[in-house]
Amino acid sequence: MQNILIEELKRENQFLKNENIDLKNQQIEISKAKELYLGILEEFPALIWRANTEKLCDYFNTTWLQFTGRTMEEEYGYGWAQGVHPDDLDRCVEIYNLNFDQRKSFSMEYRLKNRDQGYRWILDIGRPYYDLDGTFLGYIGSCYDITERKNTQEKLETIQSEMKVIVQAIEQTKEMVRITDKDAIITYVNDAVITETGYTKEELIGQKSSIFKSGKQDESFYKNLWDTVLSGNIYKNVIINKRKDGTLYYEEQTITPVFDEQNNLSFVSTGHDISERIEVEKKLHSLATKDALTGIYNRYSLNKEIDTNIKKYECYENIFSLLMLDIDHFKNVNDIYGHDVGDYVLKELSSTIENSIRKTDIFGRWGGEEFLLLLPNTNKDEAILIATKIKNIIENHKFCNIPRVTLSIGVSVYNEKIKKELFLKKVDEALYKAKSTGRNRVEYK
Ligand code: GH3
Ligand code: MG
Ligand code: MG
Repeated sequence: MQNILIEELKRENQFLKNENIDLKNQQIEISKAKELYLGILEEFPALIWRANTEKLCDYFNTTWLQFTGRTMEEEYGYGWAQGVHPDDLDRCVEIYNLNFDQRKSFSMEYRLKNRDQGYRWILDIGRPYYDLDGTFLGYIGSCYDITERKNTQEKLETIQSEMKVIVQAIEQTKEMVRITDKDAIITYVNDAVITETGYTKEELIGQKSSIFKSGKQDESFYKNLWDTVLSGNIYKNVIINKRKDGTLYYEEQTITPVFDEQNNLSFVSTGHDISERIEVEKKLHSLATKDALTGIYNRYSLNKEIDTNIKKYECYENIFSLLMLDIDHFKNVNDIYGHDVGDYVLKELSSTIENSIRKTDIFGRWGGEEFLLLLPNTNKDEAILIATKIKNIIENHKFCNIPRVTLSIGVSVYNEKIKKELFLKKVDEALYKAKSTGRNRVEYK
């Protein structure tokens, strides 16, 4: 009986011994596994931290320590917080504490100082971890360097806010801005276009840009415009455009061909109304080239025309005739009827002659009651014929309250290369001859 009991105890002992060996082996396996996982974490490409149930960090992987350039001891507890950018720290601690207390996962972005003392943007994802039996053990977090993404995002945001300013500026500028596609279909107009042309945006978008065409400039003008922009060049010119109500305006316009990233061609046109300036220029030009009293060419223009025709003779031997016309006894008109009537005669005589000449003839006031008529491509006989016709027209013209106005006319032809002064002297001498031989006459020299 006693032997049986001893045998039983021996077996029990052996069983416990075996059990003990098994347990020890299992413990070795578990610690080996733990080491294996920690080893994996050590080399993991993310920065990994672990916190205990007291919120204090008790582990950082090699990747983290290499990143911060600090030791495990320095990072322990709340040591890691020293590396967080001061502007981000309070926010991070708040997120960390709030989620930790509720055992919730969290993610947050902050700047963390690296070993070179520069800050990098980090995305930190933390979550609670538990033992096999469900006991809360603390938190594990993994962090990723998102600096590049953050920079791109910041750049995008800067570009977006800059674009907003630019778009606003374009919307509000007084300069007219319109964009058309490669087929000249309007895709965008700013407020200035609306104000100037009287169209609404809806009426313009989708229309051809020729909606503004006035027809005042010929096809070769528009062909040149298109040739320029289609060859990729910027076109600048004054274009006469038409408003919705049909009125015209001068637009100083710049058309720029633009290619987008997909290589689509569009045209950006900017311009402003310079009608007032053009009107002033026209007035100034008229003041400079026309006689204020009669509205015909002044002495300056006549001189220019004579110069041009002399050059034409020198180049192509194109002859021209010149008539010098002087009102007979004009002093008497002033003396008898007064200066205003004298002015009236000058104007009436000017328009009468202007209406009786060819488009290509140049008629102007040379000074006082003296006029010049330049006849391109006209020989002596033709010139004398024209002069006689004019003399007769004036002689027979009915001037209000004045019985008779007559002209003496000197004629000369430019058909040899002589100096302008000499040529003018010849015409003047012909006129003098007409005066001295009785007036109301045509003389040639
Ligand atoms: P002749 O037949 O020799 O040419 O005699 P005339 O009286 O026409 O010539 P004269 O040179 O003696 O006088 C020209 C006159 O023309 C003198 C001047 O008062 C007048 N006269 C010149 N310019 C103007 C003008 O703008 N308005 C008026 N009303 N008279 C002018
Ligand atoms: Mg006279
Ligand atoms: Mg005179």
